[in-house]
Amino acid sequence: MDIFDEIQRKDHEQVVFCSDKASNLQAIIAIHNTTLGPALGGTRMWTYDSSDDALKDALRLSRGMTYKAAVAGLNLGGGKAVIIGDPNKDKNENLFRAYGRFVEGLAGRYITAEDVGTSVRDMEWVQMETKYVTGIDRALGGGGDPSPVTALGVYFGMKAAIKQLTGSDSLKRRTVAVQGAGNVASYVCDHLAKEGARIIVTDIFEHKAKAVAKRTKASYIAPDKIFDVRADIFCPCALGAILNDKTIPRLKAKIVAGGANNQLADENRHGQMLLKRGIIYAPDYAINAGGLMSVANELEGYPSERALKQAEGIYDTIRRIFDIAAKEKIPTYEASNRLAEERIRQLAHIRNIYAGSSEFTGRLGDMHKH
Ligand code: NAD
Repeated sequence: MDIFDEIQRKDHEQVVFCSDKASNLQAIIAIHNTTLGPALGGTRMWTYDSSDDALKDALRLSRGMTYKAAVAGLNLGGGKAVIIGDPNKDKNENLFRAYGRFVEGLAGRYITAEDVGTSVRDMEWVQMETKYVTGIDRALGGGGDPSPVTALGVYFGMKAAIKQLTGSDSLKRRTVAVQGAGNVASYVCDHLAKEGARIIVTDIFEHKAKAVAKRTKASYIAPDKIFDVRADIFCPCALGAILNDKTIPRLKAKIVAGGANNQLADENRHGQMLLKRGIIYAPDYAINAGGLMSVANELEGYPSERALKQAEGIYDTIRRIFDIAAKEKIPTYEASNRLAEERIRQLAHIRNIYAGSSEFTGRLGDMHKH
């Protein structure tokens, strides 16, 4: 693989290879786009087979963050980092502090957080070396668990989807099949129960699903049956790649709207497949942006209520995405990508107009320095 070809193909601004012999750190920080603000995205720790695989993952994930922040209307760019290593064996203070020094070296162009394979604890080590880290414990000045904000956004996105299907945004007596009974799912179920929806819930840990079912008067179903149940909405809140060749033909629901990341196993193929089956798909990164909103508000020092208010706005974003998709006759994931690209283009244009103007102050002016 030619590294520069790979970096330029998806328009990345900067990729930093981090190596620290003393702690055995090997990491890659990918900054995709900082037009809207500093690049924010978590640090993944994984046993990659090769450094090529690690680079590809960092490039793919950082690009995704640009789109997510843009469509959410946040003043953040897209970035992501990967640490090559086994999260069960290779973690220690020296490694994360060495990594934190590299993040600090970027002077705020990249802001990190936890991701798959890293935890709040690891970020506390990172925080010893840099202030450019989020998602830390409330007791240490962080914003705490973002999942209530994510769940509220998913709930409002779901309402936008049912409005598209029926003309009404009420979820009363609608049936929602929820995959997963973790943090996001259980808050989503609380909102649904409050509105009088019928909930069917599953989890690979039966006791978790049964606990949510008991609290929200939902029915429990075994994990492998969730794709087949009669429901108005399928709400994936577990792992990625669950919309694929095998599962899409099984779906009875007319809507897919849930919090999980990377729901489409192959964006093009499975986005088209849902469209052909007449299933309304609320793009994952648009409907689950509440977590990022929570972090963005934490960064700017706003109270958590502000993030909840922004998450309600996901209703309008999803409606806009559906409008673009219907008008252009394209899958909704593509409509969402276009909305994100349009926002970045517009801001780049405004910035060009004001570049060099000493009279222009404020956020755009500040961001121009990045
Ligand atoms: P979580 O780990 O608390 O919950 C996930 C649940 O899914 C777990 O209970 C797990 O047992 C269950 N699960 C895993 N595989 C399953 C399967 N095949 N069938 C049924 N259940 C299964 O995680 P979370 O924080 O609730 O996040 C859920 C999803 O939402 C993830 O994809 C995450 O990346 C995404 N997301 C979360 C946030 C957030 O704020 N937490 C924000 C954006 C996106």
